[in-house]
Amino acid sequence: MSKVAFVGLGNMGAPMAANLVKAGHAVAGFDLVEAQRTAAAATGVTIAGGAREAVAGADAVVTMLPAGRHVIASWSEFLDAAPKGSLIIDCSTIDVDSAKRVHEAGAEAGVLTLDAPVSGGVGGASAGTLTFMCGGSPEAFARAKPILEAMGKRIVHCGGAGMGQAAKICNNMILGATMIVTCEAFTLAEKLGLATQALFDVASTSSGQSWSLSNYCPVPGPVPASPANRGYKAGFAASLMLKDLRLAQEAAASVGAATPLGAEAAQLYALFVAAGHGADDFSGVINFLRGAGSSI
Ligand code: NAD
Repeated sequence: MSKVAFVGLGNMGAPMAANLVKAGHAVAGFDLVEAQRTAAAATGVTIAGGAREAVAGADAVVTMLPAGRHVIASWSEFLDAAPKGSLIIDCSTIDVDSAKRVHEAGAEAGVLTLDAPVSGGVGGASAGTLTFMCGGSPEAFARAKPILEAMGKRIVHCGGAGMGQAAKICNNMILGATMIVTCEAFTLAEKLGLATQALFDVASTSSGQSWSLSNYCPVPGPVPASPANRGYKAGFAASLMLKDLRLAQEAAASVGAATPLGAEAAQLYALFVAAGHGADDFSGVINFLRGAGSSI
């Protein structure tokens, strides 16, 4: 088994690092926050004095950090301490430009690099069932696969540098927009006197079908596991949906792609988050559309 360094032991990183330990890897970890270091140590991660110390002698490095600026700062700090020929995987969700920048920096430093953002949330990170969307060379992907398999179930090679991030934000733009229109349809149905279950039974087996409707229905009842059945407790927090929709908008602007519904979705989630619902599940936006405003 390999020697893996893990930088960023937060909500996602800590359980991911714990699964690497369970799979038999020797994991050296670091986080800026002491409480995160202590919690990770309890799962068998050896805590290093800093990122440079963690990556020294590592076969592979995983970073799981909030945003592009953190990834650029962290990689710049440890890159020259990583062994030549080692592999660095960034699993954070970040903008495509920053992802490409760190790939270039990695190539200059003589390491293999992969962007591998995830879907599946904290539940998937704990259960080891994440989906990884990967961007990088076939060689980097092949080297990363056994490491990612310790933390996830589906590992998809989406293309070259930055294409994992591209796949992630395109997917989540579909998710954000379909959730909003699904919420609009249920709101309209309610006002027209159409029963929730009747709309679900028709649309989930007709051309209105989508993951937002069939797996994550935004009204209580039809899909018992959906957050609507537990007061819209996340789930997938609206603040994280907003982050991904904004990344999609940045990417669209950078290449001149027209994404008017993606832009609307970003605006609506910005209002929802500004009204104090950032920690709510993103499907809770249905209450906002019903006109409940900040009183949900
Ligand atoms: P988090 O804020 O809980 O964890 C990030 C950790 O990085 C923090 O503990 C922070 O102290 C640490 N950190 C920041 N800069 C650092 C540095 N220079 N060196 C070492 N540690 C540093 O965030 P999270 O929920 O774990 O999310 C991480 C990434 O995964 C984000 O990009 C997020 O968008 C993405 N993501 C999150 C979820 C989710 O459900 N939480 C789902 C999919 C993707």
